Amino acid sequence: MKQSSVYSRWILPAFLLSITAVSLASVMAGGQSSRLPEPQSGPPRWDRGPGSREQIVSTQTLNVGGAALQIDFAAGALDLPTAQILPWIERAADAVVVYYGRFPVQRARILIVPSANRSGIMQGTTWGDMRGMPGFTRIRLGQHTTVQELAEDWTMTHELIHMAFPSLPDEQHWMEEGLSTYVEPIARVQAGELQAKQIWRDMVEGMPKGEPGPGDAGIDNTHTWGRTYWGGALFCLVADVNIRKQTGNKKGLQDALRAIAAAGGSIDHDWALMKALEIGDKATGTTVLVDQYKQWSNNPMPVDLPKLWADLGISASKDGVSFKSNAPLASIREAITRR
Ligand SMILES: [Zn+2]
Repeated sequence: MKQSSVYSRWILPAFLLSITAVSLASVMAGGQSSRLPEPQSGPPRWDRGPGSREQIVSTQTLNVGGAALQIDFAAGALDLPTAQILPWIERAADAVVVYYGRFPVQRARILIVPSANRSGIMQGTTWGDMRGMPGFTRIRLGQHTTVQELAEDWTMTHELIHMAFPSLPDEQHWMEEGLSTYVEPIARVQAGELQAKQIWRDMVEGMPKGEPGPGDAGIDNTHTWGRTYWGGALFCLVADVNIRKQTGNKKGLQDALRAIAAAGGSIDHDWALMKALEIGDKATGTTVLVDQYKQWSNNPMPVDLPKLWADLGISASKDGVSFKSNAPLASIREAITRR
């Protein structure tokens, strides 16, 4: 079982950072938080781990990209009716289908847990192979969440993308989170939900947080929030650009990720990272992923981001970004977000 959780991709207040650090440490120690006891033989049904305690008040099935998504609502007040919440889930699943060509698991459960007196998407967590369900996402949704907040949400897409990669050992948690951090905005541009300029601006702002700091011992050995989410995303961005450089922009990270998912590399399977990367490389006819992992795993490997943005034709100011179509890698930038 693998847990992936994020509070905010862009800004993490200090008080949440400590919660994340604690929960990450408990996951890495092979344990679960004390609220979520290990399933044992014979406990009451409500004690069988995440998603088993909540009283379910409504259930429906969404069929998306060849998969059946079981959407459960736990007890608790929500201002919005179900009919206004389901399109948010469907939109996120559609973006995953656009990016991967299909939904990565055949069956998944999405549990919506209302959070009293709050507004917005409070937290998302995704597990693989939970009580017979290949993918299971639990989202805590504020009681007073608005349609506008659902329209702007990235959490649901981020969580569902977790289903499209195998569960990895704790040292490579950065790959699970980095992948979702990198793919989520791209998938939403490809699905027509976001503008490319918006997500490149966010990447220009966010990617520096993934750079190695003093004393960094490589991405497999540095389990800070920045290196886990943004360091992993930086790995994906650099790999995407290098695959496209080496294949004359005919293949990208998306082709590698589709191949990994097609080979059965979904969240309900535990794999070594190298197995996934080898399948990804085979699909692009390169050795980019394996070579890059060998370099990054135990070495800091800083990235010259100002040069990368300039090569991609991205210039950022406080008003947003503008694109230069004659930059050397402009066609690669365009291909990354093209459907
Ligand atoms: Zn995540």
